[in-house]
Amino acid sequence: MELMTTYKSNNYPIIIKNNAITELTELLKPYRDVVFIVDKNVEFALPEKIQQALSSTSSEQFTHILKVEGNETTKTFAVYQHIIEELLEQSITRNTCIIAIGGGVTGDFAGFVAATILRGVDFIQVPTTILAHDSSVGGKVGINTPQGKNLVGAFYRPTAVLYDLDFLNTLPYTEISSGYAEVYKHALLNGEEAQLEIETAFPDKKALESLVSLDKFLLKGIQTKLNIVIEDEHEQGKRKFLNLGHTFGHAIEYNQKIPHGHAVMIGILYQFMVANELLNTQFDIMHYINYFKNLDYPLEKVLDTNFEPLLALMSKDKKNDKSGIQMVLLKEIGKPKVIHVNNEVLEKSFATLQNYLK
Ligand code: NAD
Ligand code: ZN
Repeated sequence: MELMTTYKSNNYPIIIKNNAITELTELLKPYRDVVFIVDKNVEFALPEKIQQALSSTSSEQFTHILKVEGNETTKTFAVYQHIIEELLEQSITRNTCIIAIGGGVTGDFAGFVAATILRGVDFIQVPTTILAHDSSVGGKVGINTPQGKNLVGAFYRPTAVLYDLDFLNTLPYTEISSGYAEVYKHALLNGEEAQLEIETAFPDKKALESLVSLDKFLLKGIQTKLNIVIEDEHEQGKRKFLNLGHTFGHAIEYNQKIPHGHAVMIGILYQFMVANELLNTQFDIMHYINYFKNLDYPLEKVLDTNFEPLLALMSKDKKNDKSGIQMVLLKEIGKPKVIHVNNEVLEKSFATLQNYLK
């Protein structure tokens, strides 16, 4: 499967298939320098795939291989400085292509290196997690600071995204379910039919673990995201919809130290609670609780914290404005809306959620 973005210019292909990395050979031909930034865990899990990727350069090219940790310690100023200086030491030119092979961490990091080194060189995303179907598309790249996640970065489009499905086979279930949350989020943004279809395809952990037909939903997820970001690349308007589940999600992710997607799924659940409270929707909360439990999401984490620290974290969300906390709420499935929510409603919804989960 292949998609082409439809921006006014600088479009890029997104190729989703088994063995997609074979496309590298052709894509890398124009470059003098080829820099691979590879997640160490991916190399450990799939050494032969990494070898295959590395062998796509020719003997006339300068190949540079840099390995990074597959966790947030990579998205720091220290590692950024180290890698930039390493590449400058190796005298790379502007005729460089950086290839990020890894999950969202590696893609965000390598993309930011590409966006800034020598005022920008080309880069190709080779996402290796389900979550990275989201992070590799749309051009947001960046690193963290001690003040919070993704606070330094750029909007910088890749030259291509090669989504090689072979990588997904070595993912542990926690990473599968973490990534699935964003696939499911894209279905909810799409509409009721999409929701029904995805819940039918993956009714429980066993079905999701098998990854059967996941590629179809990854493609749909990417298409949904693309439709939004092509209209609003710099998040002035509807790109905010992609933050569905993320206001509360980021807070509980940080507070309970759980994987991003697990937190987003809990954030989606909380959002239904707030919508029922504020918009008089009548979402069937038990349906979502049962579904998320069937998929083994750690909903019980909501019982391990008080509301205050979560409110403090939500109050620091970079999407807020002078009128306070903003959230994406579903007016109905497929109809998101960005809305201010006051602390009282937030607290009441949290208490309701805790009661459901007790
Ligand atoms: P990740 O890159 O940390 O990968 C998760 C774990 O899986 C890591 O331990 C990694 O080493 C391992 N892994 C990766 N591929 C594997 C494979 N094929 N087999 C076995 N193990 C593998 O995290 P992620 O969940 O992919 O992405 C999260 C990051 O993405 C966060 O930093 C988040 O801020 C960022 N993000 C960015 C955007 C964006 O638009 N740029 C969107 C969403 C998330
Ligand atoms: Zn997310």
